[in-house]
Amino acid sequence: RTKQQGKNNYQLYAPSMNTKALERLTLENNLYKALKRGEFLLHYQPQIDLNTGQIVGMEALIRWQRDEVELISPAQFIPLAEETGLIVAIGEWVLQTACTQNRAWQLAGLPPLRVAINLSACQFQQGNLVQIVRQILQQTGLDPQYLELEITESIAMQDINLTITVLKELKAMGIYISIDDFGTGYSSLSTLRDFPVDALKIDQSFIRELWTHSSNKAIVKSVIALGHGLGLKLIAEGVETTEQLQFLRSLGCDVAQGYFISRPLSTEAATQFGFVSQIFEQRF
Ligand code: C2E
Ligand code: MG
Ligand code: MG
Ligand code: MG
Repeated sequence: RTKQQGKNNYQLYAPSMNTKALERLTLENNLYKALKRGEFLLHYQPQIDLNTGQIVGMEALIRWQRDEVELISPAQFIPLAEETGLIVAIGEWVLQTACTQNRAWQLAGLPPLRVAINLSACQFQQGNLVQIVRQILQQTGLDPQYLELEITESIAMQDINLTITVLKELKAMGIYISIDDFGTGYSSLSTLRDFPVDALKIDQSFIRELWTHSSNKAIVKSVIALGHGLGLKLIAEGVETTEQLQFLRSLGCDVAQGYFISRPLSTEAATQFGFVSQIFEQRF
């Protein structure tokens, strides 16, 4: 720093604060502002029924429109939002927005579908999740059967008793529950049996390397058999090719999601997709 650059900049170089910490603080502050300014938006990724080709769901995936050009992916800000607890407010916005959108789709005449939302651990452990969800459903008029909540195995395993209690309440309301990224966490078979869930989402890492990693075929086959044996539906994530789709169909997998069907879409594009998705059905 030269002297001419003046006094005003000195705070930025407080010796106790390294660049990482500063970046973090700035990002944290910006995330808070982003929520207040309405800079978050949702993209929606279609999910199709592998028996009929019909669209059955849309997963809501958050993005941050920081300025006109930059669309920031959740991997870049969700972890910090989780650490700081801001995810609770962001998550409530996601729920509200996705439920409102799904209701709007139904009113516009789209075939009824579930909107799936990703929950973070903090939201799950808040204590008032059930209340918030109930309130948002009432406000938006969305039938609970058209809301899907996704939790990961790691969230579910943090406090098994809490998980079971909360999931039971959500399920009693008629909400659809799925376990996201299944196969990458540490749930045991006995806990899985005790979790009142509807579906397992097979993690995309298994689907991506079905042919390069021959054991993935065996894993996917077993997970589908296990899930069905427990009375659950199976959703495959990250389906990118027709070969993967056909393989999953041959194993009786119920639902598929991935770039082969569609990338996550803006609200407008998702609406279009919903209306023209019969085209997909004809391919089946
Ligand atoms: P996820 O819930 O497992 O979502 C699937 C991710 O895989 C999405 O990434 C999606 O765009 C991507 N994907 C879908 N199909 C394919 C495919 O065929 N190939 C490949 N390579 N990728 C595919 P995205 O949107 O970047 O989201 C990443 C993660 O961020 C999500 O993983 C979820 O854990 C988290 N996330 C997204 N939105 C939210 C949110 O509203 N709240 C919370 N708490 N987490 C969120
Ligand atoms: Mg998900
Ligand atoms: Mg996933
Ligand atoms: Mg995930």
